[in-house]
Amino acid sequence: MSRSRIKCAACKKRILDHEPDLLLRDLDNGGQSRYFHTRCGDAAYAAAVDRPSFYRLTVRHVEEIAN
Ligand SMILES: [Zn+2]
Repeated sequence: MSRSRIKCAACKKRILDHEPDLLLRDLDNGGQSRYFHTRCGDAAYAAAVDRPSFYRLTVRHVEEIAN
């Protein structure tokens, strides 16, 4: 499975397949998901702290899978 179209919502750059990312689900906005680099996670954390009941924050770690 490819997830090559994922972009970071903070810096707008692609999140590469081998990078772990932060998934921020905005439950107040139709369950829309945004992704962040872990290094850009401050923006995600800020949003999550601001609206804790509406955001679900998940840190995903990429498994080593041979293509
Ligand atoms: Zn980023």
